[in-house]
Amino acid sequence: MQLKGKTAIVTGSTSGIGLGIAEAFAREGAEVVINGLGSPADIEAALARVKAHGRRVAYDPANMLKPAEIAAMVAKAEKDFGRVDILVNNAGIQHVSPIEEFPIEKWDAIIAINLSSAFHAIRAAVPGMKKRKTGRIINMCSAHSLTASPYKAAYVAAKHGLAGLTKSVALELAEQGVTCNAISPGFVWTPLVEKQIPDLAKSEGISEADAKRKVLSRQPTRQFVTVEQVAALAVFLATEAAAPITGANYSIDGGWTAE
Ligand code: NAD
Repeated sequence: MQLKGKTAIVTGSTSGIGLGIAEAFAREGAEVVINGLGSPADIEAALARVKAHGRRVAYDPANMLKPAEIAAMVAKAEKDFGRVDILVNNAGIQHVSPIEEFPIEKWDAIIAINLSSAFHAIRAAVPGMKKRKTGRIINMCSAHSLTASPYKAAYVAAKHGLAGLTKSVALELAEQGVTCNAISPGFVWTPLVEKQIPDLAKSEGISEADAKRKVLSRQPTRQFVTVEQVAALAVFLATEAAAPITGANYSIDGGWTAE
């Protein structure tokens, strides 16, 4: 029980990596506020998975496009749970398009959800963390915070921005007992990636097995990272043992960014 007595907010935790982190935190004893989009049934299913670990869990519907809703989510968690010790800025979306055709509204949404929402959540959570002299901020970056791919201009820009925000916040809070770190996964087997395989197979006229191999061609291990592996790293960064780690950007990418 490495996180007993702690309260965490995990944005974008109705699915994929965020849900895995929320479950891992609850397994380690934390109370958790989950957040994200989805049908009422999806949200109930996510809540049930996190509650199964026996901790207090709440759902907050804040839309990461809306700064006031993000601030209200943090304020409500402080009020209802008495504290926010761990903030994981995980919500994210992707859009792939040549730069000259990149829809302006997709650029704006990716910058808002993948980058600005972290700024708004950190801004709201830091006063309580400073007051209590303890806090853990974890920003879900990507291999695309360290390297780039064509057609992903907004995502690459947002993730590079989030990596910079991580370092700046870490330096500001270094003497306050509050750490701020980034996790940069390569390809993780989530519903988001799983859904792309049949589409890629169809568009390239290849089998689904070949489509998977194509996706993994950037990842030297030729293996997907699992949600559980990313969640285990997030748990570590939230523990006392990680107190001296701040401003770091941890790659968990099967060697992608070593090339
Ligand atoms: P996912 O689609 O399974 O989960 C994304 C989550 O964000 C969902 O809960 C969704 O509801 C939420 N979300 C989206 N828009 C939102 C909004 N406006 N307001 C609130 N919540 C919103 O995707 P995932 O693969 O689990 O990705 C999670 C994070 O990990 C993202 O930041 C992504 O960029 C990053 N990441 C994923 C991979 C990968 O291969 N899957 C690799 C590197 C980084």
